[in-house]
Amino acid sequence: MISWNEITSRAENEGRTYLMEHECKELLEKQGISTTGASAARSSAEAVEISNRIGYPVVLKVLSPEVIHKSDAGGVKLNLKNAAEVERAFNEIETAFADKKLAGVAVQKMASPGLEAIIGVSRDPTFGPVLMFGLGGVFVEVLKDVSFRILPVTEADIDALIREIRGYTLLRGYRGTSVDLPALKELLLKISEMVMRYPEIREVDLNPVFLYTDGNVIVDARIFLEKPDAAAPRLSPERESTNLRGLFYPESLAVVGASDTPGKLGWNVFDNLLRHRFTGKLYPVNINAKTVQGVPAVASVREIDGPVDAAVILVPAAHTLKAFEECCQKGIKFIVIESAGFAETGEDGKNIEKELRRLAETYHCRFVGPNCSGIINTHHQMVQSIGTVGELRQGNIGLIAQAGVYAAGMLWGLRHTMDFAIVATIGNKADINETDILEYLGEDDFVEVVCMYLEDVKSGRRFIDVARDVAAKKPVIVLKSGRTEAGKKAVSSHTASLAGDDQIYDAAFRQAGIIRAADNEHMFGLARAFSKQPLPSGDGVLVVSYTGSWGVAAADALSLSGMKPAELDDETYRRLKEILPPYVGCHNPVDCTFDLNPVQLREIIEVGLQSGNISSFIVILQAEILQSYVEELKKIDYQGKPILSCVPCKEFAISEVIALEQAGFPVYSTPEEAVAALSAMYRYAMGNC
Ligand code: ADP
Ligand code: MG
Repeated sequence: MISWNEITSRAENEGRTYLMEHECKELLEKQGISTTGASAARSSAEAVEISNRIGYPVVLKVLSPEVIHKSDAGGVKLNLKNAAEVERAFNEIETAFADKKLAGVAVQKMASPGLEAIIGVSRDPTFGPVLMFGLGGVFVEVLKDVSFRILPVTEADIDALIREIRGYTLLRGYRGTSVDLPALKELLLKISEMVMRYPEIREVDLNPVFLYTDGNVIVDARIFLEKPDAAAPRLSPERESTNLRGLFYPESLAVVGASDTPGKLGWNVFDNLLRHRFTGKLYPVNINAKTVQGVPAVASVREIDGPVDAAVILVPAAHTLKAFEECCQKGIKFIVIESAGFAETGEDGKNIEKELRRLAETYHCRFVGPNCSGIINTHHQMVQSIGTVGELRQGNIGLIAQAGVYAAGMLWGLRHTMDFAIVATIGNKADINETDILEYLGEDDFVEVVCMYLEDVKSGRRFIDVARDVAAKKPVIVLKSGRTEAGKKAVSSHTASLAGDDQIYDAAFRQAGIIRAADNEHMFGLARAFSKQPLPSGDGVLVVSYTGSWGVAAADALSLSGMKPAELDDETYRRLKEILPPYVGCHNPVDCTFDLNPVQLREIIEVGLQSGNISSFIVILQAEILQSYVEELKKIDYQGKPILSCVPCKEFAISEVIALEQAGFPVYSTPEEAVAALSAMYRYAMGNC
């Protein structure tokens, strides 16, 4: 059998960047994958001889380094039943492709009909090789019903890949036909292993693959090649991971560019640190000032007596390198560069970033930014933001934001209803990136929920591995912007044309067990629920409402999201009947009408808590008497069952909403939003994001 090297060097000698069908099939057979096989015939006599050997019916296909889509121009002749038909088909192909360089005609067995599938591999600039699976024909052509996973994959990933397509029911069995799923999984794993073994493989199209009740067979195959070193630089190089605790809990902090002039960013940052009573030692560094906001200043970090754990740099971009090098020389291990004017402004800025990185590597230190708004850690009273931040409650949410102003700007309001542990803005990510911070937040004891706002992912596959580890411990909610297709990469295969950036991100997030938020409102809604309430242990929900129609909307939303209004068992029914007024029907949703009041609500919940069918609560409350619910809801021992509230027109009762939120009860504007949050918690609890 011909070796991989022989096949690829033959292609290279002929100037081909792809393998012809018979070569692909040979290669696949070598991996233990079953194909229809293919032998090249140079003459019609040879074609007949091969056909006689393999047995009729056979298929003839054009073999040419110049023909990629064989059937388009009549290059595929199916179901040839005897020598005469083979001879005629051979001649027809030869005539039809007279102007093309022919490598012969492929003779192969005619496969019996099966369920048509497509399997492919493409290379994503962020995540590397990506495996695709879907059903053939209209499913892929029209419905684009395909799913993706980043390679390498586990068996669980393959399971999810198969289940995710809408046509999964066809695979599982439909009108008596079903597909050999174990064989399909094995095939997908073998493709994954093959691509990982041969980095020269850039794209693979197996289209079609016939799936049978027993086994499967590859009917057509295309493989595109690329020198691995050409593919490598696409993945951004990364530094080895470092324990970042010192970045979040420094005992001493220098602020280079701290200012004594109100209104300057260097004033804001130092003011934030003082006002929030930073836990460690603070050193303002300013070449022109003797004191900054009453604190004695030095002209350079090198003048500071004693060790310094971390530094914030706020000086203009042109002076950053010098300030940075001085921090390095001082032995500072973590540096936050908040100054802007780097890669985001052009080549010069990019070069400064490269130099910063080189210095960081030389001095074994790590840096955040540039072009960011620093780090906040409420449990260390550390606020490095460039915008003045009001009082922050100590909380359990970790937020990673690419854009500094995004996080800093929103904190002004979000701090009323969301309690953060750590807010890290990462800016240009010239060194420390989203994955490094995520890895640390996974370890931080105060952080129980992680939110990420991302525009891109720098570390590709490592992001998936780290996120998967963190998501197994605490929920990771990601909002990824830039969903539309930007810079389209060069695409050869069908697979690559189907692999849109957003689909790949979606696959990566699913693979990692990340909860993907649709927009900002959704992300914060999820974060408020996850950070304040325990996870539901079942799908049954008791809905209590003051308006019938909103109760019904909640019930609809529950059914659409894989949960349900809990069935009232006899005992719950009896006890509810006792406490409900006669005009209130005893069903779920419980519609108490406008008479709903805090004591009644508490009693209903207390009955619900006794029922095994009820695992969580959604309560729909009147905005006009919202305040009266706060104390009553706090009295209840919820026994680990979550409660979410929905307040129509809540934006007009904002101080009451804040009171309810601060008491630990998330508030939503609509039943659909409340259900979106609750069902995300339920899915997370079930290990299925
Ligand atoms: P193309 O280069 O146009 O994709 P294919 O090899 O996929 O050519 O052939 C076109 C179609 O012909 C396939 O989708 C499949 O339905 C059918 N076909 C091709 N080869 C075989 C075979 N060996 N057995 C059965 N059907 C085949
Ligand atoms: Mg094909």
